[in-house]
Amino acid sequence: MNNRSVLISGAGIGGPTLAYWLHRYGFDVTVAERAPAPRSGGHAVDIRGTAREVARRTGIVPAVRAAHTGACGMAFVDEDNRWVAALGTDVFGHSGGPVAEMAILRTDLARILHDATRDDVEYLFGDPVASAEQDDDGVTVRFESGTSRRFDLLVGADGVRSTVRRLMFGPHERYLRDLGCYIALYSTTTDLEHDGWQLMYTMPAGGGRPGRTAGIYPRTAPGTGLAAFFLRSAPLAYDRHDVDEQKRIVTRAFEGDGWEIPQMLSTIGDASDFYFDRVVQVEVDGWSRGRTVLLGDAGYCASPMSGIGTSLALVGAYVLAGELATADGDHTRAYPAYADRMREFVRRAQEFARTQGDGGLMPQSRAQLRMRNLSVHLLPYLPRSLVGRGMERVAGAVELPDYAALAHR
Ligand SMILES: Cc1cc2nc3c(=O)[nH]c(=O)nc-3n(C[C@H](O)[C@H](O)[C@H](O)COP(=O)(O)OP(=O)(O)OC[C@H]3O[C@@H](n4cnc5c(N)ncnc54)[C@H](O)[C@@H]3O)c2cc1C
Repeated sequence: MNNRSVLISGAGIGGPTLAYWLHRYGFDVTVAERAPAPRSGGHAVDIRGTAREVARRTGIVPAVRAAHTGACGMAFVDEDNRWVAALGTDVFGHSGGPVAEMAILRTDLARILHDATRDDVEYLFGDPVASAEQDDDGVTVRFESGTSRRFDLLVGADGVRSTVRRLMFGPHERYLRDLGCYIALYSTTTDLEHDGWQLMYTMPAGGGRPGRTAGIYPRTAPGTGLAAFFLRSAPLAYDRHDVDEQKRIVTRAFEGDGWEIPQMLSTIGDASDFYFDRVVQVEVDGWSRGRTVLLGDAGYCASPMSGIGTSLALVGAYVLAGELATADGDHTRAYPAYADRMREFVRRAQEFARTQGDGGLMPQSRAQLRMRNLSVHLLPYLPRSLVGRGMERVAGAVELPDYAALAHR
């Protein structure tokens, strides 16, 4: 086989899935991850459509089911926490709703994939790629620890702000498409009764303030939840490393608002898992440069709000591994074949994210908010052939080849 040794940067979703399949096809795989160890907590993700079949072939479905978040759907509430409209996980089939039937914390899915590969794949936690140079015969990678190693191929599966992409393709600004809003998340305490529903309270733009939503995502431990904030805004100038400054931005944006927001904001100061970022999409003209290729969010993030990113990463990993095995490790054939198989799926997912991906969470007016609530209310009663099939169709818009004959382990 050509090009036997592969370095994957990033042990999120795409990285370990790719590692699993490459190992089964006989490659030697190393995964470098910035975090010092597998993490816990954070946001939930969805496994939809064709990605469910990837999960099945990867043998992780029982573990995924055992780690289900318990979420049964998304409910929009008013200031007094009365339900205005709700969409259950089963309302548009297993994959079409705002919360899919197969929902799991991202960190739990990463842990399951790590467990499935840890005995066969070399993991370098806490030692990310610092620099990389490729030539005709391979890629020389220097890690932050100072070690240098040589690999045949390099995969950037290191997320929206991928280091591999920055090093081998160019600066982030060239590839990030701004979707006009921010998300903040952190663990909080709450006395709200949620019964497994994601509760969302939306305020329309008005009085000089933008459209915005605050939400509580259920957690299994009683009295806890994940606080979520969605805010339409022009880009703000702030220090990406100054978490306190980011907490002040969120506090200012939601100060004085009702529902559970005062309680949520009262815990923001102590949040050790605070996340705040601009919502972006990643658009790269061709996902490979020489021996380097991009996978998942690094190459084609749709948007964190679209609910399709995890499925793109799972399917992309399975296809990339399969095409490398089919081409006997020849990246000059495998990378274009991977791109050909994924292009339409990614295009449709990204288009969906741009046009419908914000789920009406940041309405421009009170009338728009009323329309959103009315349509959410009516959707479950309208024929499936007419509505709600957008996400379901996107999640199934890729054909999964059968590479089983190539696996030798
Ligand atoms: C707030 C939020 C909410 C989301 N909600 C949903 C949802 O509801 N449903 C859904 O399906 N998807 C959701 N997503 C998207 C989903 O998390 C991603 O699409 C998915 O995780 C992509 O997998 P990935 O492997 O490409 O990247 P990631 O899962 O982001 O993994 C990238 C990994 O690379 C590591 N890394 C970063 N830099 C380096 C480096 N220099 N060297 C080595 N490692 C590095 C990171 O630590 C991380 O472990 C959400 C995302 C966010 C941010």
